[in-house]
Amino acid sequence: MIQKIKGTYDVYGDLALKHDYVKKLFQAVCENYNYKYIETPIIERSELFHRGVGDTTDIVTKETYDFKDRGNRDLTLRPEGTAGVARSIIENKLYTSLPLKFYYEGSMFRYERPQKGRYRELRQMGVELYGSSNPISDIEVISLGYNFLKELGINNVKVLINSIGGVETRNKYKKELIKHFENNIDEFCDDCKERLKKNPLRILDCKVDSNNKLIKTAPNILDYLNTEEKENFEKIKEYLELLEIDYEVDNSLVRGLDYYTNLVFEFKTDIKDIGSIGGGGRYDNLLESLGGPSVPSVGFAFGFDRVIDVINELDISLPTNNDLDIYIMPLSDNELYYSLSIINDLRMCGYKVDIDLLNKSIKGKFKESEKYNAKYIVIIGEDEVNNGVLTVKDTTTKEEIKISQDELLDYFDMNI
Ligand code: AMP
Repeated sequence: MIQKIKGTYDVYGDLALKHDYVKKLFQAVCENYNYKYIETPIIERSELFHRGVGDTTDIVTKETYDFKDRGNRDLTLRPEGTAGVARSIIENKLYTSLPLKFYYEGSMFRYERPQKGRYRELRQMGVELYGSSNPISDIEVISLGYNFLKELGINNVKVLINSIGGVETRNKYKKELIKHFENNIDEFCDDCKERLKKNPLRILDCKVDSNNKLIKTAPNILDYLNTEEKENFEKIKEYLELLEIDYEVDNSLVRGLDYYTNLVFEFKTDIKDIGSIGGGGRYDNLLESLGGPSVPSVGFAFGFDRVIDVINELDISLPTNNDLDIYIMPLSDNELYYSLSIINDLRMCGYKVDIDLLNKSIKGKFKESEKYNAKYIVIIGEDEVNNGVLTVKDTTTKEEIKISQDELLDYFDMNI
């Protein structure tokens, strides 16, 4: 038996219903905010991630699925969605008409140690807003995510925010961090030792060393922001309060990807063992660093799998409806021919209709209609065919009525 790859899972049954519901809700919320769907390839040239997302990012240095194709090209399975969208914006010159508001959804691949909430094929749903550096756009993407979670029934969400400043501020801050950590870097994990020179900010959110007192006494990035960066951050907080979004400033939040500037944020629930369910921030330099023009941008991605985990953990029952409208029941093969056009007409009118495909007994057919939770059963026997009058059973009231075939559609239009 061939088994699935570690860190992947199959989606079927109830889980498939949940996935479908959550995707459609995300789509509906994004469309309310006037975001348009974008889909970019799952495979891209390796340099897009290794150069664009940054070579000090764990995801890129250690976790990408890199391979050579048969044409000896270096390719990578996308570990996240932002870089591909940025590449598409540049390649298709979409930046000539700003703002751009996109949403996407799909599988990402990271070679991480599989565990609960951490997969090698992970799904993300995200948004990208290009063209505005006004804090109103930061707030738009945060509120989109927050409202989506509320609509799902996930209420205990906190938005953690931080500002990591622009390039100049960060360079100044990095120097201070290096000074702060370098004499005692031996106390830290191997990853942090490496981070010290490359990206000391990442030491602040290291999972292994989070209890080291030097992390708690580290200089605060907010003290290094310039006036404009400070004002922006204050505006964002003000707007969050206005929209009554539950937030908290968290100075240790730096996020895993190198391309962020200024605002970074995460959606967090208080459920144990489920960390961040989504995160994002601003990346005003990303497009330029990939060879495009300078266009400010902000966005985030939800960890779709984790959103589903939270729904399960909180026992939220989603209004998924998998019930069948009508089960067509020809009593024998003789009536099958007659049934086909009825089924066809009903399906074309938008009803969810099914029929026994396995030649089951009458009892088996009734059982199947129950399994599908059919609202109505249309019984078609010899009499029905001869007279053109069908028997319709309402499975809730158990009432049966006779109805001519011509009136069948009108009947369902009135009742379903
Ligand atoms: P990132 O792209 O790293 O900013 O992650 C965005 C969100 O994706 C996180 O907040 C998590 O919810 C989710 N996520 C990241 N890595 C994984 C993973 N390996 N498995 C499942 N979800 C993940």
